[in-house]
Amino acid sequence: MWWTNPITFVNARVITADGGVLRTLRVKRGRIDGLGVAPDKSDTVVDLDGAVVFPGLINAHDHLELNSQPRLKWRGRYDNAREWIADFQPRFDTDPQLAVARPATLDDRVWVGGLKNLLSGVTTVCHHNPLHRPLRRRFPIRVVQRYGFSHSLHIDGGAVADSHRRTPAGWPWMIHAAEGVDDEARGEITALQRLGCLAANTVLIHGVAMCHLATDVVLRAGAGLVWCPSSNHFLFDCTADVRRFDDADRLALGSDSRLSGEGDLLDELQAAHDTRQLSAEGLTRTVTTGAAGLLRLPGAGRLAVGAPADLTVLRSTEDDPFDALVTASRADVRLTMVGGEPRLGDPAMAAVFSAARTASMPAAVDGAPRIVARWIARHVAGMQVTEPGFEVVH
Ligand SMILES: [Zn+2]
Repeated sequence: MWWTNPITFVNARVITADGGVLRTLRVKRGRIDGLGVAPDKSDTVVDLDGAVVFPGLINAHDHLELNSQPRLKWRGRYDNAREWIADFQPRFDTDPQLAVARPATLDDRVWVGGLKNLLSGVTTVCHHNPLHRPLRRRFPIRVVQRYGFSHSLHIDGGAVADSHRRTPAGWPWMIHAAEGVDDEARGEITALQRLGCLAANTVLIHGVAMCHLATDVVLRAGAGLVWCPSSNHFLFDCTADVRRFDDADRLALGSDSRLSGEGDLLDELQAAHDTRQLSAEGLTRTVTTGAAGLLRLPGAGRLAVGAPADLTVLRSTEDDPFDALVTASRADVRLTMVGGEPRLGDPAMAAVFSAARTASMPAAVDGAPRIVARWIARHVAGMQVTEPGFEVVH
């Protein structure tokens, strides 16, 4: 990255690791080089006009290949996830709405998941399924590479304990758990404890049925929770009580896939905000430091000198910068930068692409003009399924 020109963003609201707000941020050779500093003489200076600079957002739970079909259910409300899976599993081959999810388009479909996340300002996603080949290559955003996982106790049964045992203690191990409102869902925490699967690297997804005692057990083990409120409301009409997980700093937020989730991570932040469980600042933690802690991503989730320049820049819509995040939609994302490389921005960010020596192409998101890194545009041009609302202008 020696060939790139340093960039200083000025007239910004930069959210620092301790919750402070500074006016400038300098990027050099892919890393954050200064916070609250004046630009050097040779820097490319970019005036952000009061926009808010967050650490690149982290989506702690998605199934990247399952974002090309509509949200589906066949009952008004389920009691647990097993019933819902039993409803859609046999329809994968027969329901025309699920036809877009054919194996032949797997590479394209994981890219749709990647684009969905990129467009919403996400710079790192945790994918819950095997690490498909495209996810190990150049991809629109970072994908967590080191993790272990099971789907759930009701799908993987006896293989769950083995999966946990095989996962190195320094990697997160993830499982859908207590996803429902009945005794079966409630019993999963005790079952995981009995199997020896509750540990400091355990990341439970959903936890809707968790009572006060189960939360005690999980937190005592040092495990954490990924909250997916919109998916929970869609299937069960309610969601988890997450406040004690936030107090213990063991909470992250995930969009889940569009099969059950509302949409992207910004939609999920709004759904989380609507539950009134956490403040806007608390919700910001769930997509930055909280997620980085659970997913074992040192250096991610915070703006600090020396950290990789993963940035999400949002249009200033509110006086409080945290309110700006929890009320944002993808139209408000002005720039997504990964490791100093701009990937998607509004046209006013052209100087950032030039300074980073990133070739770009014009694009549109929901009809609004954008600039996208050319290597992403070229890949998108060859895809059979695409992200709705995203167009590359040729
Ligand atoms: Zn899931």
